[in-house]
Amino acid sequence: MKKTFSRSPRQKAIDAKCKDCGYDPYDKGTWRYQIEICPCTDCPLYEFRPVTMKNYDKGDVDC
Ligand code: SF4
Repeated sequence: MKKTFSRSPRQKAIDAKCKDCGYDPYDKGTWRYQIEICPCTDCPLYEFRPVTMKNYDKGDVDC
C-alpha cells in the first residue's frame, strides 16, 4: 500500500518556492530530485526543502 500524507499549507508554500528557485525542466530528474540535491546549504529553506519519497522513507534527509 502506498504511503500517503497531506502536506501543510506552509510546506506547500516552501515546495512551490523551491520548485520556482531550483527546478530546471530541461535538466535530468524530477523536480523533487533536483531540489533534494540543492547545493545551497546556507539557504534558510534548505532544511525544509522537499525531497524524494525514496529518501524520505529511508530517513536519509531531513524535511
Ligand atoms: S533550498 Fe533554497 S536555494 Fe535550494 S531550491 Fe529551495 S529555496 Fe532554492
